[in-house]
Amino acid sequence: MSELQLKSKEAGYAIASLGDLRDFEGKIFVKDVMETTGVEISFGSLSEGQCVPFNHKHKQNEEVYIIVKGKGVFTLDGKDYEVASGDVIRIAPEVVRTNRNTGKGVFSYICIQSKAGSLEQYTMTDGIILQ
Ligand code: ZN
Repeated sequence: MSELQLKSKEAGYAIASLGDLRDFEGKIFVKDVMETTGVEISFGSLSEGQCVPFNHKHKQNEEVYIIVKGKGVFTLDGKDYEVASGDVIRIAPEVVRTNRNTGKGVFSYICIQSKAGSLEQYTMTDGIILQ
């Protein structure tokens, strides 16, 4: 099982490491360790043949999954979609979802969760270039 090791934490920022993401196994949530306030990020993995043992949806958060390693199936509102390393899946709060490992070896992914409709500024509309 991987661990999120806090490397540095100061007022206003934190740095942590999971090690090489290709070797990640387990389930880790970032919020409590790094004190995020607008997003929850988790790292998850399923061993060969394993599935998430429940369907779920959300009250207000959308999720974006980024597949890091392996192959799997995401079931979204009852419809199956094959996914693999490099794929990105965005899911609105009300969509019922689950996923399973259908490949050889570990299937791992990053899940980014934030309040649907909350993004008002991003990239260059929020960034301020300083010289
Ligand atoms: Zn979720």
